[in-house]
Amino acid sequence: MERKELLYEGKAKKVYATDDSEILLVAYKDDATAFNGQKKGTIDGKGAINNRVTNYMMQLLEKEGVPTHFVEELSERETLVKKVSIVPLEVIIRNISAGSFAKRYGVDEGIVFDQPTIEFSYKNDDLGDPLINSYHALALKLATEEEIEIIKEIAFKVNDVMKAFFKNLKVDLVDFKLEFGRLSNGEIVLADEISPDTCRFWDSETHEKLDKDRFRRDLGNVEDAYAEMMKRILGE
Ligand code: ADP
Ligand code: UDP
Repeated sequence: MERKELLYEGKAKKVYATDDSEILLVAYKDDATAFNGQKKGTIDGKGAINNRVTNYMMQLLEKEGVPTHFVEELSERETLVKKVSIVPLEVIIRNISAGSFAKRYGVDEGIVFDQPTIEFSYKNDDLGDPLINSYHALALKLATEEEIEIIKEIAFKVNDVMKAFFKNLKVDLVDFKLEFGRLSNGEIVLADEISPDTCRFWDSETHEKLDKDRFRRDLGNVEDAYAEMMKRILGE
């Protein structure tokens, strides 16, 4: 499959057309941003790690019956995916309080919830991805009621699969962000990425942070944390 024109350059990835109109090529970069692009930097080797970790997770989820956009890993940093029309919602699942949840509600980080929570942000950089509820999403025509139901169902399924998977790796899955898209036939599939950029991972024993919070909060050893997560996930 040939890489054709650059369609979009985002903060962490570049998206290219291919000779198949239904297939895109995603190329992962080492660029890192936080706080809606206000903090910028690079994490050496991140692109390759996030590519491989995302593809591993997408294939694991497919095996468990979750429909995803994954097609084929082409190289260290490049993957073919099914082209979707992205539903402009960031779908966030939380198992343990952290980040903006702790800040918003004035609670400590590390409170283990009895049940996972789900929340939506309107994916809009100019507005700073504001928190919205499903009624707002319907009012803004971001998705239909049926699509929102499917998205919720898949998101909780993804959480069940990932929680169990990471528990085995001695990692607590604190929270994560998912994106969904529509295939040309309207089917909703999981898209974008699942990586230390988009999940919070805490070592189960030491509670050490093994994710992008090391970059956001200047905790040091950022590259090591990404490498450690890849090692645990891919077993190498
Ligand atoms: P951002 O846009 O937030 O800066 P990225 O740098 O990760 O993010 O860019 C990747 C873009 O590609 C995102 O906007 C994401 O929604 C989009 N995307 C992810 N998967 C697909 C797909 N299968 N089809 C079309 N677009 C996708
Ligand atoms: N997240 C993400 N992209 C975003 C916002 C959040 O991948 O634009 C992920 C983030 O890595 C974390 C989870 O979603 O795993 C919840 O993030 P939170 O709402 O706490 O926001 P943050 O603290 O990142 O501002």
